[in-house]
Amino acid sequence: MPRHSKSISATRRTKPRVRPGAVKLPPSSTASKPSLSSSRPKSSPPLPPPVFDTSAVVECPYCGESVEITLDPSSGRAQRYVEDCAVCCRPWQVSLTYDDDGHADIYLATTDE
Ligand SMILES: [Zn+2]
Repeated sequence: MPRHSKSISATRRTKPRVRPGAVKLPPSSTASKPSLSSSRPKSSPPLPPPVFDTSAVVECPYCGESVEITLDPSSGRAQRYVEDCAVCCRPWQVSLTYDDDGHADIYLATTDE
């Protein structure tokens, strides 16, 4: 039984390509694998130049409690509306004015006189 002899293909390459002036990087600085963590970076939407307050802590004119209320800057720079106290549930007359910095000036009054 004749054995098949492996024919070694001696395809000799021509000269290896050497890039002239190739700088060898030290192996420690080859950061080939992506080192990004799976948690995506905080993507914050671009804010308009004045950052308007969207919440404020006010003092209830009825019960005196400090209550955080939510503001709606999209409703205008000067607003008047009625909001119920979260503590005593009595209605406030809210006068809200945004200054140029987007800071909310809030004045609360009672609706009963
Ligand atoms: Zn109250």
